[in-house]
Amino acid sequence: MGVDKITNALTIDVEDYFQVSAFASYINRAEWATRECRVERNMDRILRLLDDNGAKATFFTLGWIAERYPEVVRNIVANGHELASHGYAHLRATEQTEDAFYADIHLAKILLEDISGQTVKGYRAPSFSIVERNLWALACIERAGYRYSSSVYPIRHDHYGMPDAPRFAYKVGGLTEIPVTTVRAFRCNWPASGGGYFRLYPYGLSRWLLRRVNLIDRQPAVFYFHPWEIDAAQPRVAGIDAKTRFRHYLNLERMEGRIRRLLTDFHWGRMDDIFLPEPAC
Ligand SMILES: [Zn+2]
Repeated sequence: MGVDKITNALTIDVEDYFQVSAFASYINRAEWATRECRVERNMDRILRLLDDNGAKATFFTLGWIAERYPEVVRNIVANGHELASHGYAHLRATEQTEDAFYADIHLAKILLEDISGQTVKGYRAPSFSIVERNLWALACIERAGYRYSSSVYPIRHDHYGMPDAPRFAYKVGGLTEIPVTTVRAFRCNWPASGGGYFRLYPYGLSRWLLRRVNLIDRQPAVFYFHPWEIDAAQPRVAGIDAKTRFRHYLNLERMEGRIRRLLTDFHWGRMDDIFLPEPAC
């Protein structure tokens, strides 16, 4: 039916459970180094899962993680995946000046390239924080030497989103912006690309949405998740509000099984292979 021929982009935002933006008002950054870090074991599980299914992916890795766990970076590259950048300190682009944003994404690129020996082409802003009021950030990303960004979520959401942005890859100057996937229905864009929505929806709905993008839009989907989402045993953060608790902990125990199904139901590859094909020579 055509779906089999499309390779979709699987992306993982490599950060730990205590670094998510929704916890920023509960966990001081100075405390990060004192928290139990679980990203190494969760990454080992993800790399095994991908290997079992012959899938390749792009890992948008936080500089803070790369600096402390360089083995995580080396394992990504050794397994044939694309190493990309999630910035250094997981600060939302909407909360930074242009100079501070540039410094953060430039530092992360240098750090990741030093550890991996690879050119880092892709960047994803924390919490899809490129929105209408900070479009200057796209020029910054290009200036820092990246070739593409996957930082725009064309939906309405209380923490992020740019509902009128294009739904599929587009050029901004020399940079390609590759938004995460939505489905267009009832004159709205609906999230279809992972994260909390993938844990919230029944698996069959996620599969239907992704198939629709492949069959109706005839476009590759861009799906994302985080290492902490497959970790039901992660330490619970105390004192958080009910909405944050619901969004973060919902269906963690179902996540690995759902990812396994996703890996068999679709073909998955790296962002650079799908969206930045090298010209044949
Ligand atoms: Zn993130």
